[in-house]
Amino acid sequence: MNKSTRHPCPVCRKGQLLPTTTHRDFHPRGTLVRVELLASVCDRCGKETIRSEQHDQNLRRLAARKSAPAYAGLLLGEEIAALRIRYGLTQQAASTLFGKGKIAFSRYENEVTYPDQSTTLLLRMAIDKPDSLQWLADQAGVPLPLWKERSEDRRRAIRKAPVSGASAPPPSSKGIKSSPSERHVRPRS
Ligand SMILES: [Zn+2]
Repeated sequence: MNKSTRHPCPVCRKGQLLPTTTHRDFHPRGTLVRVELLASVCDRCGKETIRSEQHDQNLRRLAARKSAPAYAGLLLGEEIAALRIRYGLTQQAASTLFGKGKIAFSRYENEVTYPDQSTTLLLRMAIDKPDSLQWLADQAGVPLPLWKERSEDRRRAIRKAPVSGASAPPPSSKGIKSSPSERHVRPRS
């Protein structure tokens, strides 16, 4: 691990990357929550980049901010974005679905503002109980483009749950080339 700390600059390819830090500020309930983030700066061209290990570490640091007391009961912008993207909704469609103004989700996801208490409850319910999202979408007349895919994911997850004592033969014991390990590859969206 001695020489491995030298990282060539991907921009100019001549300099070396030196560690630096940056930060992102959030203001849940008007309280400053600052997350220190890792980055690299080239000692030659001065361009800032983020190496993949730094990116992973940054995602962990960002997720950890949720334990700040000011976030109690709130959702992170990333969690709101994840719900929306999971069902293939645009920010505008999600705003309509939850009965909010056009740019509400853009603001929630960037944490420019935080959803009010009742909207936060609806969002948390949609995350925990997908059927409630379907109901809200029906009320608002907003289609959920990836609803079918996500429903299939859930069915698959239920089927994967261990069943004791079941002794049905494997569905394809003959004539299929897949090895046992291949059969366990889980299709991921
Ligand atoms: Zn450089």
